[in-house]
Amino acid sequence: MSHTVEKIALKSPAPGTERFLTIHRFGTIGARPKVYLQAALHADEWPGLMALNHLIPMLDHADKAGRIVGEIILLPYANPIGLDQRLGGAMPGRYSFDGAGNFNRNWPDLSAAAAAHIPQGFTGNTGQDTATLRAALLQAVADLSTRTEIDHWRAQLLGLSIDADYVIDVHCDQESQAHLYCHISHADIAKRMAAAGDIPVVLLEEEAGGFSFDDCNAGVWRRMTGLVDQAESLPMACYGCTLELRGKDDVNDVFGQKDAAGLMQFMIAERVIQGDTSNLEGPEPYRLDEVDVIYAETGGLIAYKAEIGEYVQEGQLIAEVIDITASDPLTARTQLVSRTAGLFFARIDLRLISAGEGVAKVAGRKLLEHRKKGALLEA
Ligand SMILES: [Zn+2]
Repeated sequence: MSHTVEKIALKSPAPGTERFLTIHRFGTIGARPKVYLQAALHADEWPGLMALNHLIPMLDHADKAGRIVGEIILLPYANPIGLDQRLGGAMPGRYSFDGAGNFNRNWPDLSAAAAAHIPQGFTGNTGQDTATLRAALLQAVADLSTRTEIDHWRAQLLGLSIDADYVIDVHCDQESQAHLYCHISHADIAKRMAAAGDIPVVLLEEEAGGFSFDDCNAGVWRRMTGLVDQAESLPMACYGCTLELRGKDDVNDVFGQKDAAGLMQFMIAERVIQGDTSNLEGPEPYRLDEVDVIYAETGGLIAYKAEIGEYVQEGQLIAEVIDITASDPLTARTQLVSRTAGLFFARIDLRLISAGEGVAKVAGRKLLEHRKKGALLEA
């Protein structure tokens, strides 16, 4: 099949308005492995828009050469609702203006709805059970509410992704090195992806919490246990990851080209696309509960004392928060230190921060008791 482009209209939220998704398809419908890629689910995260923009012609070229073994679905922008949210000249992104919350939280747990479509139970035959669950998941998505524009939008994305072997959700952080999040059961795939894309930080979670888009797709495979007979023998047949392509301002053709080439290499390594890959040795992953998120107790002006990409020691000063209401500037500073030794890989881009704000992330090698399972992602 050659490259096709389709537009899907979203439910009109108000008279005279309508938004749409653009869907690029490569390879053969129904062929495996199936890869689903999307960019900027949070709307204000543009490095992924650039990366996928560069990836489309690469995939087109591979498709014309007959090198695509599986099926690839690519959404160059995932969230036209968020792209349309402007406030005073800024694009706040992340949260829906209509009160539906964070665009990348509270995606549905489809396990019970899918289980209802498998009353006969699984067979223990991996290939057959995988196909059965994928069909049931598509049914479950088809049954989702489409009452509002956001509901309809969520159902459209899931309808394209839920039966994929790989779901690659491309985001970015505020100021950061490239990093990716995925479930611990997929550590090997994540390492290959990191090696292919020159991504220094891989973060593995058992239960991150929050029901992100990648976890909605990948996590449903392990949530079937206890709902359907013989679900224990199901493979974790969907690799879902949140790929953070550096910081918000890291949007240029050099990064876009490099990131797209990395994604091509990854898809070659996974045999979605024919081609040569050398042995991909990724970095040693970190566990998400080994990542110190440093919060500021008080609001104020922040002065960073460490740089992104720096290895810091436990107790090392990361930043000072300056109380600009203090009478004496010399006594107005609160120090923020790292509680682990590791890589300082991300920080916020605001320099005037609010009390309680998470301002820096350091990936270390020791389990941090203050990090709570099931609540490892920030809002
Ligand atoms: Zn994001």
